Amino acid sequence: MSQNQNSNENPNENIREMVSSMCQNFYTLGWVSGTGGGISIKRGEKIYMAPSGVEKEKIRPEDVFVLDRQGEVVEAAANPALKLSECAPLFQSAYDLRDAGAVLHSHSVNVVLATMLAERQSGFISTLEFTQLEMLKGLSGHGYYDTFVLPVIDNTPRECELTDSLRAAIEQFPKTPAIAVRNHGVYVWGKNEVQAKTQAECIDYLCEVKVKMHAAGITNHLQSAPVA
Ligand SMILES: [Zn+2]
Repeated sequence: MSQNQNSNENPNENIREMVSSMCQNFYTLGWVSGTGGGISIKRGEKIYMAPSGVEKEKIRPEDVFVLDRQGEVVEAAANPALKLSECAPLFQSAYDLRDAGAVLHSHSVNVVLATMLAERQSGFISTLEFTQLEMLKGLSGHGYYDTFVLPVIDNTPRECELTDSLRAAIEQFPKTPAIAVRNHGVYVWGKNEVQAKTQAECIDYLCEVKVKMHAAGITNHLQSAPVA
């Protein structure tokens, strides 16, 4: 299919460069240090994905893998030593089940700390709840008075082993734009890379507030009715 036939592709944008610069940005935020985390962007029928196990701040555009919608590699990284991200099947879950346009995986300390406060609901799923916080408005389908339920699945020794529980959580919580992983991090998606990034920033912020509230001993932040 030529680019002209596919309205989702713009020949002037360089998705490989976008992945590489987002990796640098997330490294600065501390979300992908120590080779962790990952980034992927979908355009048309192609999925662009950062490689695995490398310093994310040093990824060059030509190091980005390109996959088809079935998850098969159609363009490998220029450096043959690079491997496809272990997150690939997890990213694929959000593309398949939520029609996402981009999926990010962060090892944000704020999210990791917040998952330690999550309450177990059933099996491998715990939840964190957020309400009456301005930054909730940055999450699709959520307003200030809504309750955002962030599912937290149990971690596994290998990242790819999370796939089944991540898919189950996505199906069980249709409103969430993210699934956190206990003591590990979070997968966040959006209709495109901008929404995935801003939602990841909002979730990081909300988790930081929760953790700092807990540390400060604040147990109730809900607004009381105005005094007449
Ligand atoms: Zn991870």
